[in-house]
Amino acid sequence: MISDIDQPQAGRSNPSDALRAVLESRLSRQQVAVQREPYTPLAVRRDRLHRAIDMIVSNEKAMVAAAQEDFGQRPEISCLLSDMMFPVSAFRHALRHVGRWMKPEKRPPDFPFGLLGARTYVFYQPLGVVGIMSPWNVPFGLAFAPLAGVLAAGNRAMIKPSELTPNCSALMAEIVRQSFAADEVDVVVGGVDVARQFAALPFDHLIFTGSAPVAREVMRSAAANLTPVTLELGGKAAVIIARGADLDAAAAKVVSIKLGNGGQICMGVDHVRVHREDREAFVAAVRRKLAEFFPDYDNNPDLGYVFLPGQRQRLAGLVRDAVARGAQVEVMGDGDIGQLATMANFPLVMIHQPAPDSDMMREEIFGPLLPVVEYKSVDELAAQLRAGGRPLALYLFGGNSEEQDFLLKNTWSGGVSFDDVMLHTFMQELPFGGVGESGMGRYGGHAGFRTFSNARSVAHRPRFDLMAMYPPFTPKMVARVRKLIGIR
Ligand code: NAD
Repeated sequence: MISDIDQPQAGRSNPSDALRAVLESRLSRQQVAVQREPYTPLAVRRDRLHRAIDMIVSNEKAMVAAAQEDFGQRPEISCLLSDMMFPVSAFRHALRHVGRWMKPEKRPPDFPFGLLGARTYVFYQPLGVVGIMSPWNVPFGLAFAPLAGVLAAGNRAMIKPSELTPNCSALMAEIVRQSFAADEVDVVVGGVDVARQFAALPFDHLIFTGSAPVAREVMRSAAANLTPVTLELGGKAAVIIARGADLDAAAAKVVSIKLGNGGQICMGVDHVRVHREDREAFVAAVRRKLAEFFPDYDNNPDLGYVFLPGQRQRLAGLVRDAVARGAQVEVMGDGDIGQLATMANFPLVMIHQPAPDSDMMREEIFGPLLPVVEYKSVDELAAQLRAGGRPLALYLFGGNSEEQDFLLKNTWSGGVSFDDVMLHTFMQELPFGGVGESGMGRYGGHAGFRTFSNARSVAHRPRFDLMAMYPPFTPKMVARVRKLIGIR
């Protein structure tokens, strides 16, 4: 496993202690810088945001090549959109608004304090050092996008990227080193042992993007330091097809997202729910779009590979389980069920009406398997969705405003897009994050600035000290408090 941590350290025989010592010294370097400059001026924040944009823009070729190397095959446009445009848009948005975000926010003082000259406001100050832990599926994008809010809020950052994309992680460390001092932004490269120790560092905030089982471990480690966490997890994001929806438009989104990045997108499409009378027409639309978008499936450069053998084996296991429970399975690209675990160009596999207790209807799929589940009524649909947990996103195609409103009020998810997939995640001013098992906390735009700031409440006393209530306490004072409470 590649690592930029030299271990063991001289004088330390236990590699785990040596690793902890190195990580602590790298954190301590940033903490010293925080002590030197606890409040980062606007010009410094802007300069860091500019440098982050330049870093990405000037390393485009190397970033595409590293992702290509790690993924085996990943369309250049996937890398441009998810690893570059996503964070660059976040940095640009932060640059435009950081001056306004930093301004103290006036709040009205309670009556009668305001009349007598009290002033109250929220003052946003940097937290200090923020840890960022990121997954492999969007290796640069999910490490850099949170950095926009972290830097805009005036913090310093340590990033731990995934060990499963070693070329991307090594390049990230290099380009960050070229663009930032180690006490501004530092990238720690290493395996799961490094990740565990990283999560145990006493950061002022920790943002973790990844899976729910690992998030539980990370949150336990953070709890030991009372480090607040933002958890960006996944879940079963459904595409719902309402009666009368444009089936071709819905199928186009579903096919392109299930096969772009190998379906390995946290807020992509997990499964489809369609009215029983539209099921056949929708399945036909999926077949048409697949043939149109990926005519030569075997050698198609626009497919994102399922490059991790463990992922392919997991997906093949989900298919076997669904078959064993009676679902009808259709391998829609080249290949058959027996070959799935070995195919990096994993085909789109449609699963008709899988049993609700099958593994693929209980776990996040995170790959090109497409369960198609029927519903008979909108009420039944909402009940099915509520039973399926609280995912990162829900998508409704078609439907009138009443149906949209019904869905919003009767289901849960971190975000919603109507007639589209992932649209809400591109909107800089919509807070991004999950609910329940899809995570906690929000980043993106102003929400990111707030998440990574200390919202300090400030009150200036009015001319008269209305709160003066010193001993000895008299019956008159007690009567006054009773009156304020409303006790007769
Ligand atoms: P993962 O949980 O395996 O790994 C995420 C990070 O945790 C990596 O940096 C890894 O080094 C580290 N890690 C691994 N084991 C650890 C441990 N025991 N202790 C501490 N840290 C550890 O996730 P993944 O497989 O890289 O990514 C896929 C998951 O991420 C999916 O569940 C997906 O839905 C989710 N995801 C969520 C978002 C989002 O924005 N909400 C985005 C992308 C992916």
